[in-house]
Amino acid sequence: METEIKTMNALMQEKWNKRPLIISGPCSAETEGQVLETATRLAKTGKVDVLRAGIWKPRTKPGMFEGVGIKGLPWLLQAKKVTGLPITVEVATAKHVEDALQFEVDMLLIGARTTVNPFSVQEVCDALRGTNVPVLIKNPIHPEIDLWSGGIERLQKVGVQQIGMIHRGFSNYGNTEYRNAPMWHLPIEMKRRFPDMLLICDPSHICGNRTLLQSIAQKSIDLDFGGLMVETHIDPDNAWSDAKQQITPEKFNEMLGELIWRSENTDKKEFLTALATLREQINHLDDELLTLIGQRMKIADKIGEYKKNNNITILQTNRWNEILGRAFKKGEHLGLSREFITKYFDAVHLESINHQNKIMNE
Ligand code: PEP
Ligand code: MN
Repeated sequence: METEIKTMNALMQEKWNKRPLIISGPCSAETEGQVLETATRLAKTGKVDVLRAGIWKPRTKPGMFEGVGIKGLPWLLQAKKVTGLPITVEVATAKHVEDALQFEVDMLLIGARTTVNPFSVQEVCDALRGTNVPVLIKNPIHPEIDLWSGGIERLQKVGVQQIGMIHRGFSNYGNTEYRNAPMWHLPIEMKRRFPDMLLICDPSHICGNRTLLQSIAQKSIDLDFGGLMVETHIDPDNAWSDAKQQITPEKFNEMLGELIWRSENTDKKEFLTALATLREQINHLDDELLTLIGQRMKIADKIGEYKKNNNITILQTNRWNEILGRAFKKGEHLGLSREFITKYFDAVHLESINHQNKIMNE
């Protein structure tokens, strides 16, 4: 593709730095009327910064609605002219990038199904070389966050200056209340890796339904996310894709009104002193916990010696079930979830096994 240096639209530049950054619009552009009406009703709220609409839809099975394609781009451009809202679409190939930029799309999205594939991410990145358009990259479908980091690094390498991350949850085995499990520790880890990078939450694809949207959005704000992307439709029940999770622009306006926005920092003295004291207590407790775990490991080492001298295997399932059973009971009184207890003991168990394995082989 021929690259052309584009200067980013000043409005988008201004929006890029706004917190919270609010993106909304239909999952898919369906008709010109639908795009224009959604855009107008969103603009009327005065709370939306960027209009989204899927043009090319990566669907799980062929035969499902795969997006209107390039004919939807002029509808979005028209919506931008009418409302003044910058526009964003998902791109997955070099051709998508070229078409989107030709129709003055202000910001690009890389979808979850693209982030999983480094070939596709690289193709999009190569098409972005020399352009000046902000890009938001979603987490990959499955919880392998190095792919997410890798995508960001690829964007950085081709010189994309404005990069942001979108947390849309992770596909999960078994029944969960969410379409995609939030696994909050993973976006938090990304924030640790890229502390200055915009991170926004997409509650629509995490929830897969309307009832949980508000609580997931609130949770992301409480975790200091920099914005939201929520799917809105003028007739959600009859949307051509993701009907269950879309809400009307007016409902979204209500939802935004009810959210409590918090800031990461404050200079209120009283609060800071109280926080510092509590943090100091946490530090002490963490030190004690680590010391205790170290002591526990020393005892595990002793048991390892006995097992070695008596030719007994390291793993004894019954004992392990007994430990977990005791911990669940105790945890109940302490307000600790079974999920936490299982994770904690899995980690401790693995460490003991590694210690004892080493002893066996000495
Ligand atoms: C979307 O935003 O409509 C979409 C397809 O999202 P994801 O890539 O998160 O599935
Ligand atoms: Mn969608």
